[in-house]
Amino acid sequence: MPHVRLDPVKLTGVSTPNRPFRQNEDWLGSRAEMVVLLDGCGVPDSVSGELETGCSHGLPWFLKSLGTALLRNGEDTRASLSDVLATSISQTCAAHQTRCDLTHPLTPASTVVMLRGDASTVDYLVLSDSTLLVDDGGDEPMVISDDRVRSLALPGFGDLRPDSRQYREVASARLHERARMRNHPEGYPVASTDPQAAYQAVTGQIRRDRVRRALLASDGATRLVDMFDQLTWTQLLDLAFTAGPEGVIDRTREVEDADTACLAWPRGRAYDDATVALCRW
Ligand SMILES: [Zn+2]
Repeated sequence: MPHVRLDPVKLTGVSTPNRPFRQNEDWLGSRAEMVVLLDGCGVPDSVSGELETGCSHGLPWFLKSLGTALLRNGEDTRASLSDVLATSISQTCAAHQTRCDLTHPLTPASTVVMLRGDASTVDYLVLSDSTLLVDDGGDEPMVISDDRVRSLALPGFGDLRPDSRQYREVASARLHERARMRNHPEGYPVASTDPQAAYQAVTGQIRRDRVRRALLASDGATRLVDMFDQLTWTQLLDLAFTAGPEGVIDRTREVEDADTACLAWPRGRAYDDATVALCRW
């Protein structure tokens, strides 16, 4: 069999907190031909006060523990990405279950996007509402996400002003309802304390020679498409390709800066943590 030399995947990525010097509740990591993006389920700015979560480590610790476990376990290419995620959730729980109350409804949780390539295929896994775009040469990219969290029936902000008490009460009610529906039969799967959530993820495999570009993005980095209606998915992918992942985040911040009161686009966070990784083959 002739030896075929493959060009390695070219990866560029940026992960930024919602405002400079804040804690980043997204996480991005890579090794060889594997990329992992996590978006932690945090507490919106509009929910006042420090909330008890049962975890003394905090969300960034959870994300780093889960993310590094995913990269480590993903080295075993015989294990499916769902198996890799299930094992990594178990290991992360084991690392803090003696000190922390993992039954607390607000225990740390995260979305997951994983991409892993080998000589002939590219595997992907998407859990919850982060997004993977894959350019396979068609007119439109494949858009892979799990909308179950977005289709929850949550109280709306209506015309409430973000600086009002009622607005903060709605934000708090939304947070607690989303937490209650985590890994609930009528809710949505997410990476938290139940390894079985891994088998609810959206997964698939594409022939490597069909994949041209892929973009992994947290929901803070897809607002130009799915919240602000400024770009199509194709345009978002092209913007990342031409201006780099930071170009996507810069343009998102410009729109957020123009509506800091959240009036044009009602939303729980004026600014969100934003992470973009672009892979080119
Ligand atoms: Zn903990």
